[in-house]
Amino acid sequence: MSSPVITLRPGRERSLSRRHPWIFSGAIARVGDDPQPGDTVLIESSSKEPLGLAAYSPHSQIRARMWTFANGGEIAETVDDAFVAARVVAAAARRADLFAGGSTDGARLVFSEADGLPGLIADRYGDTVVVQFTTVGAERWREVMADALAGLDGVGSVFERSDADVREREGLEPRIGLLRGDAPSSDLVVHEDGRRFGIDVTGGHKTGFYLDQRNARRAIPHFAAGARVLNVFSYTGAFSVIAAASGAASVSSIDSSGPALAVAARNASLNSIDIGELVEADAFTALRGLRDRARQYDLILLDPPKLANTEQQVDKATRAYKDLNLLAIKLLAPGGVLLTFSCSGAMTAELFQKVVAGAALDARREVRIIDRLAQPSDHPVPLAFPEAEYLKGLVLRAD
Ligand code: SAH
Repeated sequence: MSSPVITLRPGRERSLSRRHPWIFSGAIARVGDDPQPGDTVLIESSSKEPLGLAAYSPHSQIRARMWTFANGGEIAETVDDAFVAARVVAAAARRADLFAGGSTDGARLVFSEADGLPGLIADRYGDTVVVQFTTVGAERWREVMADALAGLDGVGSVFERSDADVREREGLEPRIGLLRGDAPSSDLVVHEDGRRFGIDVTGGHKTGFYLDQRNARRAIPHFAAGARVLNVFSYTGAFSVIAAASGAASVSSIDSSGPALAVAARNASLNSIDIGELVEADAFTALRGLRDRARQYDLILLDPPKLANTEQQVDKATRAYKDLNLLAIKLLAPGGVLLTFSCSGAMTAELFQKVVAGAALDARREVRIIDRLAQPSDHPVPLAFPEAEYLKGLVLRAD
């Protein structure tokens, strides 16, 4: 069966020739054969050369996402059940090394475009896989994807958490529920480096845990021994648990959400460790209060939620990042360390560093980058798709 054909405007095949997987609405000259949302479409250049197969998203500015690219006008693959299932299996196989060492039983198995599966996120916690379908293209293959995930070694249940806002841009309703196997246990925990963190599959942020901050969790022990620690935007309290377990002198966690602090308290008890005070407050206000009381910390962790969702929000977000980092740097004791993050994909690493540099300048402190932290290997960034990079972290030491 031949696919509906999308013809690009002259010159707009260039990004596809570099294997970038997105086709924006403005690149399209003509949509033929009335494709339906999620249909596989044939993409061709203005001179009618086949460029590859893509999933059609009529409601999104990213109008089509590539499944497979042509080589010299030849398309070797067909997008069918076997193709989709094989991509899922291959993505999971790329994470085998992470699980093999036994240091963790939680990892992202599928990271959307970065694994050749646009719109599919799958995170594994022990025997449970939590999935999000964020595009109509992924939605179309939902059952095949669920079967493939359920068929992976050691997977007992697949649970859907398709409640991310991005679904709206695709004209999709939110959906939460069991897809395969047994309902996940309310005692579900992820084991990482000998510690246990509870996973709220049905109600937690994202798919229940911040798998993407594994590198940060592993960096904390180096700086925590004997330190007065402040964990701002603490959510699961994972950073606080690790700091306390690594011999911190004191730990204080701030989050504006009561339920988030309850998750932190539970994680403290799961690890039989005292994580000190849990402060329910707006971070901006709380940091100002600490500054006014001239408090000092040896280690500060600053992991705000995504402050810029789009390019248009970057300016406003920049001011918020500056404000937070300025306050945090002022609270550092001499020689103190700040781990500061931005998970806004729209903010580049370069801009983030500039903002933090401005904050240090205004704080009148000499601050050095001693390390950089990024999303871990289960959130890979294809060289052809730099947009996959979203999490940036700086490890800073102040004089
Ligand atoms: N580092 C955390 C994840 C942080 S997620 C971890 O390891 O689990 C961001 C957190 O910021 C959420 O828990 C959210 O409740 C909190 N938050 C959002 N806005 C806030 C604000 N203005 N002040 C304090 N906390 C806020």
